[in-house]
Formats: sequence, C-alpha cells, structure tokens
Amino acid sequence: MNAPDTLAALRPGSSAPNAPGLVAWEMIRTLVAFDTTSRESNLALIDWVRGYLEAYGAHCTLTFDDDRRKANLFATLPAKDGNATIGGIVLSGHTDVVPVDGQPWDTDPFEATLIGDRVVGRGVTDMKSFSATGLALVPEFVRRGLARPLHFALSYDEEIGCVGVRRLIDDIVARGVKPLGCIVGEPTGMELVVAHKGKKSWRCRVRGHEAHSSLTPLGVNAVQIACEIVTYLTNVARAFRDQGEYDDAYDVPYTTVHTGVIHGGTALNIVPRDCHFDFEIRHLPFDDPDELFAEVEGYARRFLPEMHKVHADTYIAFDVLSASPGFDTHGESDIATLGQSCSETLDHGKVSFGTEASLFHNAAIPAIICGPGHIAQAHQPNEWVAVDQLMRCEAFMKRLVERVALA
Ligand SMILES: [Zn+2]
Repeated sequence: MNAPDTLAALRPGSSAPNAPGLVAWEMIRTLVAFDTTSRESNLALIDWVRGYLEAYGAHCTLTFDDDRRKANLFATLPAKDGNATIGGIVLSGHTDVVPVDGQPWDTDPFEATLIGDRVVGRGVTDMKSFSATGLALVPEFVRRGLARPLHFALSYDEEIGCVGVRRLIDDIVARGVKPLGCIVGEPTGMELVVAHKGKKSWRCRVRGHEAHSSLTPLGVNAVQIACEIVTYLTNVARAFRDQGEYDDAYDVPYTTVHTGVIHGGTALNIVPRDCHFDFEIRHLPFDDPDELFAEVEGYARRFLPEMHKVHADTYIAFDVLSASPGFDTHGESDIATLGQSCSETLDHGKVSFGTEASLFHNAAIPAIICGPGHIAQAHQPNEWVAVDQLMRCEAFMKRLVERVALA
C-alpha cells in the first residue's frame, strides 16, 4: 500500500509529472493506489474518502461486512436548504477491484500511469475513475451550493456478486433516504445505459444408481437423465431465440439459456451414479427466470417415478448458484433525462452484463449506468482507460454540477 493517508497529499497543483490535464487526475491516482482487491479490506480507502468528504461537510454512514473488514460508504452533501434525504442524485461506484495475480502487467498495477493517450492501472476503468471524477468535483459542488442533495455510494465486494451494496441500500431505505435516482459509473464508454439483463444460475444434481453396464436395467443412469434435462434447456433456449420476446436494444435481443459445465460417470462399464451440471438464464428484465425454472423442474420431476422404481435413494436436486435481477429504467424517466442532458445525447442503450444498478432500481431508486472506459478493458492485465474517456466523464460531471447547483 503506497496510498497517501492525509488530505494534505491531495494538494491542488501537486500533480505528478505526466499529468494528462484532468481535474480528477490526482484523485484517480489516489484511489488506484489503494489495493482494494476484493479479498482485501477496503477500509483504508473508505476512511480516506470519508475524511475528504467530511472536510466538505458531508454526512457519512458506513455499513460493514460481518467481520468489519470491509465497508460501504454512503455520504451526503445536503442541499443548501438542509434537505439531505429527498430528491437527491446518487453517484455510485464499487471500491473493489479484481486480482492481478498471475497477470503479466508492464507497470505497477496500483499506480495509475499515463502512457500516451491512456491511463493504465488496476481499476482505472472498472471503476475507480468515475468515483474519482465525482469526488474531485466536490469542491465545485460545494462552492456553488446544491439545489438538491448529492450522495456518494461506494460499495465493497461488487466483483464477487454485488454483495456489499445490498447492506448500503437496506440502510438508506430504512433511514428514509429517497433519491431522485442513481448514476452507476460502470464502464459504458460514457454511453447512457438504462437497462441490463438479469442472470440466475443453478446446479442440477442427479443421483442415479450404480450397476454393471451389462445390467443397465438394474441401474439408474445419472448421465443420461442429466442429458435429457440439458436437452430440455437447449430447446427452451431455441424457443427464446426463435419466438422471443425481443428487445433489439441488446446485442443479444432475447433471453438466453446456457449449460456451461457437466460432470458425470467414472468408467464406461459402470452405469453412472452421479452427474451434475451448471446452467444459467440471462433474461430480459420482463422475463421471469423463476417461472422458467419451474418448468425445468417440472420436466425433471417426470423422471422420478421411473428412478425410484429401481432404487429409492435416487433423486434430482437443484441448487441456486447466483441471482442478480435485471432492470429497465425507461429512457423517459427523470434520471435518464438528467443523464441525457449531462451526456448531451438522446441515445440510450442496454447491456448484457450485470451491475449494482438493478439493486438500486429494485429498491425504488431509478438507476442509469454511465461511466468511462469499456467493459472489454476491465479485468485485463494492463487495464486501461483512454484519456479522452476521462475527459468525457469530467465534462459529464461538470454538466451535472450545472444541473444540481443553485447558481
Ligand atoms: Zn465494475
């Protein structure tokens, strides 16, 4: 850890050599310098940001994980009239980054480095630069005075399944904080995204009964039954592809169903006792994955009488592996309109990757996604973001200042 731990380290005009002329450059360097790989504590970063924001009059609330090793920070700069709860704008970013282990980096991943027209470093695109840009403009927000509250929602453990932010959202809902909407700064190339698919995944475990393969009627073949269920899923996938419904705003405009892993059997001359496979549904926000799962489960149940006739201990079980909802904040919502005016575009798109936006959305906090960089550059060795993207993010944030400031 080589992060500065005092506010004094963030002096205006103290830019390192090779600064790209960004207001947020020092803040980006500061946030990247904290090693907040998901397995590590993020408290050093959270404490630093909290100190910075409190110096500008923010009210800060921390929500911790069970071990108190990690925390979410929810910070509020109240409006000039004292309003700290109603109609505010949330700038949301996760603080954690994916590991650099085993990746061939050419620079120190925890030092944001300007190389040509790119900034390289772990988290520069996913997603510290967005948070840094918002934080760097806090002095400007405060100097101008706010017509509505401005909130920062900085979470932990996003990269391992949007784990942390759920506690932050529960806390603000319980405290009656009712923002107008939330801008999640995941990398979208600064395009405005108003929806993404949901994803739910399961493991199916088939327990059959072993027998010598010359005596197949005395056994229950777990591999064959699993394959029948996999085939059913494949047909469900085809039905979505061929009959929709469709939403052409997505790269893949329909709900997809996919089996990614299968394990079963031990030797060709043994009727296999066990087989399991993992499958996922990436669904359009209006398709219900549980409804679909109920059909799959109903299909699987048909095999049970036949299985039990051979042996009573046979079964088919399903375990949920993960679930993250989809969301669709329609293009005409207040937060989407604000996003359009800040990005000076009327366009809005939809993406297939999941973010924390759906969790805000489902807590009645309408959300949009707009942040610098591209998802293809995230999680890579030599993760980078174009300086031009950072400039666009800064321009976006300055227009936001215009729209939430009093004068
Ligand atoms: Zn991310």
